[in-house]
Amino acid sequence: MHESWMDEARCRSFPPDLFFPHNGTGVVAASKVCAVCKVRTECLEHALKNRIADGVWGGCSERQRRRIIKARREEQEAQLAE
Ligand code: SF4
Repeated sequence: MHESWMDEARCRSFPPDLFFPHNGTGVVAASKVCAVCKVRTECLEHALKNRIADGVWGGCSERQRRRIIKARREEQEAQLAE
């Protein structure tokens, strides 16, 4: 699925493998590229919305994205309970 923001993705200039790291050092390396990417927000939201499990998206690892999803769910539940 191609979305217009992907045309401005900074990672297009890097080897794809960089964004599918096997350890924390690799995540840090990929996140440094993402840190100055102008479509970082769109990228992260795309990964969250589509429940993409693998790779670094929007500067976040799989684990970080799971935490974001959990925090958002808890926030929604808290709002519903008010
Ligand atoms: S934020 Fe997303 S689009 Fe930008 S470099 Fe990182 S993985 Fe690529």
